[in-house]
Amino acid sequence: MEIDVSMIEKIVKDVMTEVSGGTAACSAGYTYGIFSDMDQAVEAAAAAEKEYLKRPMSDRKKYVQVIRDVITDKQNLEYISKLAVEETGMGKYEHKLIKNRMAALQSPGVEDLETVALSGDDGLTTIDYSPFGVIGSITPTTNPTETIICNSIGMLAAGDTVVFSPHPRATKVSLDTIKMINRALEEAGAPRNLIVTVEHPSIENTNKMMQHPAVRMLVATGGPGIVKTVLSSGKKAIGAGAGNPPVVVDETADIEKAASDIVAGSSFDNNLPCIAEKEVIAVDSIADYLMFNMKKNGAYELKDQAKIDELVSLVVKDNKPATDFVGKDAQYILNKIGLSAGPEIKLIMIEAPKDHPFVQIELMMPILPVVRVDNVDEAIDFAVEVEHGNRHTAMIHSKNVDALTKMAKLIQTTIFVKNGPSYAGIGVGGEGYTTFTIAGPTGEGLTSARSFARMRRCVLVGGLSVR
Ligand code: NAD
Repeated sequence: MEIDVSMIEKIVKDVMTEVSGGTAACSAGYTYGIFSDMDQAVEAAAAAEKEYLKRPMSDRKKYVQVIRDVITDKQNLEYISKLAVEETGMGKYEHKLIKNRMAALQSPGVEDLETVALSGDDGLTTIDYSPFGVIGSITPTTNPTETIICNSIGMLAAGDTVVFSPHPRATKVSLDTIKMINRALEEAGAPRNLIVTVEHPSIENTNKMMQHPAVRMLVATGGPGIVKTVLSSGKKAIGAGAGNPPVVVDETADIEKAASDIVAGSSFDNNLPCIAEKEVIAVDSIADYLMFNMKKNGAYELKDQAKIDELVSLVVKDNKPATDFVGKDAQYILNKIGLSAGPEIKLIMIEAPKDHPFVQIELMMPILPVVRVDNVDEAIDFAVEVEHGNRHTAMIHSKNVDALTKMAKLIQTTIFVKNGPSYAGIGVGGEGYTTFTIAGPTGEGLTSARSFARMRRCVLVGGLSVR
């Protein structure tokens, strides 16, 4: 009988994955980037960076492909998507599959690093995107694996190494993703410890990481607290902070399509994405028809004021979303107030006044308030107000070019989607690449490899110009 070596290799790999919960055991003491101590983790990333600098661009390109391949491997993709929901208690498995896949396939790699050349009588000057060195990347509970995947691709493409500080409530899935990537990189001949973290992520460890002199740049993907902390660090920092994306619908819109897009975008991953529609602002003349169509697309309209009040006291604590309800299914939330709904229900819709907590607070739950206004000018003014100056994301459904232009100019958000669901803004059904680190406060916008690089000028005097 012929022995198929590749089949045996596959069986061994599958068994290793099975026994180690998605990641293979350590080879010769290598912990696949996981350290017990933060200083050791940073120093390992700094040592890896020295080695990485010697590698050609073709290696970086190869390593980006390795990350794309290991994450889109069916078994790995299903493993991290399932574990993310189980461990954090947030979001939807089917949507995590889509998000992780997008992060792996649509985050730009080395092609993002375009060189500028100046050629003339005095010679040739190039301006290149060059690595920062070791980057500290702080990642959220809401997109734990997606952020690790897209930042690993962008940062390694830029020639950096990365120390991740995952959210403590997403420890296992974050560590397993980092191990999975490092194992695949090692198999491809990459230096060890290109991406690292610690066994026990914590605020203390994040502070230690931020203060370590070898960390040259900080990237915070999370709420206002951590963005403020990195911006006060004295280091180069990228802040990708909170949003509260409004969606305006006026009387010129295709109302049936607007309703379907809004429910799809707002209920995606149970409203966890920072870009997801968080409140609807509808012109009075079409508001009823819009809500009628939203119900046809899976919105459950809650009208009983006593139940709405009960819901507010349950899901809002100290003017913040109650963690226990963030990213939960609409059915789960309805059950807690004594109501039930079938699997066709994707979100809970209420009609609300402008000052309602569901309108003002970034809930990150499938609860969508609809605010009724007299006209599109009032809608735009209120959208600007309720976005709270986050400059994050906003949507409008309208065919009135003046209204589209006015809102785009006034709201100043990093992402502005016209006539589509919010996720069109990160490349799903809209043109453009994907990222899960959207830097409004510091202005990089949708981050990619070039956001994690420094501009350097190399000047060759008196030669090589062929003009
Ligand atoms: P979070 O702010 O609670 O946590 C984010 C990360 O920061 C975690 O790793 C956490 O451990 C760390 N952290 C928080 N406070 C800290 C402190 N004082 N010191 C040190 N570390 C600290 O956010 P979350 O609940 O995980 O994620 C949801 C928030 O993130 C929402 O506001 C959402 O809009 C935002 N977000 C923004 C983007 C973006 O690209 N702009 C992407 C995803 C999430």
